[in-house]
Amino acid sequence: MYINGNWATAADTEFEIFNPATGAVIQSLPDGGAEAARAAIDAAASAFKTWRATTPYQRAEFLMRAHALMLERQEELAKVMTAEQGKPLRAAMTEVKYASDFLQWFAEEGKRVYGEIIPSARADQRFYVLHQPVGVVAAITPWNYPISMITRKLGPALAAGCTVVLKPAEATPLTAVETFKIFEDAGFPPGVVNLVTGADPKPIGEEFTTNPKVAKLTFTGSTAVGKMLAGKAAANMKRVSCELGGHAPFIVLKDADPVHAAKGLQLVKFLNTGQACISPNRIFVHREVLESFLETFADRVGGMKAGNGMEQGVTIGPLVNEAAVAKVENQVKDAVAKGAEVLCGGQRLIEGDLGQGHFFAPTVLNNVTPDMLIYREETFGPVAAVVPFDDDDDVLAMANDTHYGLAAYVYSQNLTQAMRLFEGLEFGIIGINDINPASAAAPFGGQKDSGLGREGSREGLQEYLETKVGGFSI
Ligand code: NAP
Repeated sequence: MYINGNWATAADTEFEIFNPATGAVIQSLPDGGAEAARAAIDAAASAFKTWRATTPYQRAEFLMRAHALMLERQEELAKVMTAEQGKPLRAAMTEVKYASDFLQWFAEEGKRVYGEIIPSARADQRFYVLHQPVGVVAAITPWNYPISMITRKLGPALAAGCTVVLKPAEATPLTAVETFKIFEDAGFPPGVVNLVTGADPKPIGEEFTTNPKVAKLTFTGSTAVGKMLAGKAAANMKRVSCELGGHAPFIVLKDADPVHAAKGLQLVKFLNTGQACISPNRIFVHREVLESFLETFADRVGGMKAGNGMEQGVTIGPLVNEAAVAKVENQVKDAVAKGAEVLCGGQRLIEGDLGQGHFFAPTVLNNVTPDMLIYREETFGPVAAVVPFDDDDDVLAMANDTHYGLAAYVYSQNLTQAMRLFEGLEFGIIGINDINPASAAAPFGGQKDSGLGREGSREGLQEYLETKVGGFSI
């Protein structure tokens, strides 16, 4: 833990962090609770008094130093991430770069927090609008993107002039520790960034949502936990942002290039072993292009190599834990029992060393229908569920038939159809013939049960600012 510029060197109780590819214990860390969270919040509240008074240019210098250090230590960070999270080293390297983008982009954007002068109906009056940092930010992040979910919150919060307390996921705190070493080496003053690790998130979450010194809660994780924490934070009138679960439709229309779509799907579906909030969960393919789409897709998926992400040539890592494998297995069994066809994969991988970790074969299911669990539940695993359809006009309603609203993808060569879907889809992030509609510069976030607020972009900075108006009589 890193509180008020000091690392906790020992603790009465510690918790273990496991490698999901091998089952081995990597390291132990201090098991913090409400008391540690309170100490970190006190440190952040005290540091806020001076940090808020720094200029955006000064804050940008700290962030740019952290950005440079993150790139310098890219491989080191990626190795830690692969060990505790499981993704192939190359994917971990890409995530570190993506994470560093948020530090750089918000360092610059912090300089553009402009106010406003509003004309008054009274000749003697002027309205001045000022944006100021909200105060102490409590942040909670998930295990699937262990570093970029941290900088996507801390980049804008620090640029805006807020101070922060972070609780990373129990499964991936080591990447967070390495990230905070970077903040320390970049020279952030004591108390500006604080890290609390722990095995039981409940007491920490309770402190974050009830402590009067916390001005804002920012959470990324499951919809169930997000709703519960947002409810508690709202009862104490704290600002809240939530990035939650998803159930992305991936739509291949009649006029799409099916091979291009299948190649794109293979890349985005199996990203992070399917453990991504923007992972396609229902793949709607027009029957006229189904055969050629499935041929390319199943062929590519069948060629993927599962294994320890540290090994050369591995393209798909383990799932995070046994519960995740059991969930995926249950969804596949349920789908098959209700008539889905397995085109490849479909089972756990237990041969040789794979038996030590949490592996499930990259899987393609065809003829998925709305009565199957996989059609409704977030899978968070390497299973592509294909739903054939007959009429382009029906697919919008089918895609919107979910309580989630994070990402959606459309493949079409018809501009009118693509625009109709872009405008009609009830989702916050939409890729049109594009599988990566995310960047530090673009707003990221969901509608419906997928969240509140946006991260990245100008909007992501506003989440950490209060608006103040002054009426001046002259
Ligand atoms: P999760 O169980 O909700 O956990 C997320 C974080 O919340 C972890 O740090 C966890 O701590 C903490 N947490 C759990 N229960 C808590 C409580 N009672 N009080 C305070 N904190 C609590 O979600 P997950 O399984 O780690 O992450 C996967 C989910 O995140 C998926 O639904 C995915 O779609 C979503 N996600 C969304 C985005 C997005 O941008 N929209 C990005 C990535 C992931 P512990 O680890 O200690 O349990």
